[in-house]
Amino acid sequence: MGWTTHEVTNQVPDLTDYNLYDADTALQEAVVREGAQGAVAELSDYGRALGQARIIALAGAIDRHPPQLQAYDRRGIRIDEVVFHPGWHEFLALGVGQGLHDGASAARAAAFLMHGQIEAGTLCPLTMTAAAQPILAREPWFVSLLPTLTSRHYDDADVPVTAKRGMLIGMGLTEKQGGSDLRRITTRATPISGDAEGACRLVGHKWFMSVPNSDAHLVLALLDDAPTCFYVPRRLPDRRRNAVRLNQLKDKLGNRSNASAEAEFLDAWGLPVGEPGRGIATLVEMAGYTRVDCVLGSTALMRAALVQAIHHAQHRVAFGQPLLRQPLMRSVLADIALEVEAAVALGMRLARAVGEGASGSLVDQALARIVTPAAKFHVCKRAIPVVAEAMEVLGGNGYVETHDLARLYREAPVNSIWEGSGNVMCLDVLRALNRHPELAEALLGWLRDGSSDNTLRGHIEAIQTELRAAGPEQEAAARRLAGTLVVLVQAVLLRKHAAPEIADAFISTRLPTGGMPGQGPALGTGMSSRATTQLLERAWRAAC
Ligand SMILES: Cc1cc2nc3c(=O)[nH]c(=O)nc-3n(C[C@H](O)[C@H](O)[C@H](O)COP(=O)(O)OP(=O)(O)OC[C@H]3O[C@@H](n4cnc5c(N)ncnc54)[C@H](O)[C@@H]3O)c2cc1C
Repeated sequence: MGWTTHEVTNQVPDLTDYNLYDADTALQEAVVREGAQGAVAELSDYGRALGQARIIALAGAIDRHPPQLQAYDRRGIRIDEVVFHPGWHEFLALGVGQGLHDGASAARAAAFLMHGQIEAGTLCPLTMTAAAQPILAREPWFVSLLPTLTSRHYDDADVPVTAKRGMLIGMGLTEKQGGSDLRRITTRATPISGDAEGACRLVGHKWFMSVPNSDAHLVLALLDDAPTCFYVPRRLPDRRRNAVRLNQLKDKLGNRSNASAEAEFLDAWGLPVGEPGRGIATLVEMAGYTRVDCVLGSTALMRAALVQAIHHAQHRVAFGQPLLRQPLMRSVLADIALEVEAAVALGMRLARAVGEGASGSLVDQALARIVTPAAKFHVCKRAIPVVAEAMEVLGGNGYVETHDLARLYREAPVNSIWEGSGNVMCLDVLRALNRHPELAEALLGWLRDGSSDNTLRGHIEAIQTELRAAGPEQEAAARRLAGTLVVLVQAVLLRKHAAPEIADAFISTRLPTGGMPGQGPALGTGMSSRATTQLLERAWRAAC
């Protein structure tokens, strides 16, 4: 056929071959501020590696080709294997090579933030492995495996961990009858008589168990009726597969590159981790790490959506002008950029606080214990409308699966649901305030010290009585309290570290006088043109 119906014009080129770190002013500043300046060159290398066209395309491919359960082999023998697209392993190799499975620090958080902008599914095993480390490191029987757990070599071989160069850990808590209320678990552990290390046989199930092919899972089971944490390896030292059956994989809205299984334990072998009967406390400690990663993961989704939206607006012409030059579109994009600025500042500060652990200052401990669950609630929820708004910048193309925004939008709700859903986080904030009044006071002092303007001071005064009196009677209002607290922490961080126009824009739009903090009208409804220009320049230098 020698004819065409039309020429293709005004379509936007793919955004590829860019350096995620070098293009991100807010992240660069936060890295230095939070003490990770020594990692700048490495972070820039990682940003370049992630931004390559081939890697970006691979992330799309592993979303379109989710893992498959191969329950039986061709002879009909049960094998319970999960087959992944090769790209899944490549992203894990990248993440492990960068140390995303190892510890909590500002440098790791920055790399995590970049990884999540390109591929979010692999963040799950990386975060769970990092969170399991401090807990397993305390077990004398695990000491010989620590170098394997911290190694930067990704090894997907299905062999006992003693024969591996690297390993990943998953978590199995949630059962059919309850995931938030872990006291309702029914999986039982029975001690193996005469076993010197206290090994048990586990019988029961887990309703969600992500990355089922991990080298081991930390599993919650009842030992003498008390929830206890167990280390349940995939392969036993004699190479046999542990008795963990995978019934099926979840057909998920997003997070599709990752596998989440329904599993059963048929006398599976497990070793107790931590004190018997203190399993929930052990896993709550792990959650302190995974929750900050949820904040970073959602920030990454917002940042990825912002970058795509600005890139689109730069190239797409409507009514005679690129969208990026149209005042109303600039307001929308700048407001998304403002949300990302605030989320980056908060996530990086929290990562440093969590990384300090028990040796951190009272303020660090307050940020880790009180603000992290609040941020997990607020930032993960904000990602949903923010990504939706960025999707709309692409018009109809944004809604189509061949564009990355659709994948980002499907991914957006998951961080709010797992690792403690929104309400559970807000109740945890009340619990932390109630149990640790000294941390609440340290936090209030830090907020007051950082608020040089009357508006901020007024909001802090308004919230301090509630923070001091937090208790079960405030449950109904816990979302408002947690959300307000996060917005105040973000406002203080921006007031301290951002340009005055940017802090002013955040405070006037997210802390409206008499309104509900952080839950204002649609994005793009009120910001000075100076703040708009600054935010867009900082968000994506190439565009402005
Ligand atoms: C993609 C994906 C992967 C997952 N991977 C894993 C995994 O690897 N390992 C694992 O153990 N789990 C995993 N989960 C499970 C997840 O952690 C749970 O679904 C989550 O913790 C909520 O538990 P639930 O589903 O039982 O809901 P429920 O506990 O029934 O909660 C339902 C709703 O009620 C709210 N709620 C609960 N209690 C209260 C209360 N007192 N007051 C007010 N509201 C309340 C919750 O916030 C939630 O919104 C995964 C989930 C998803 C979606």
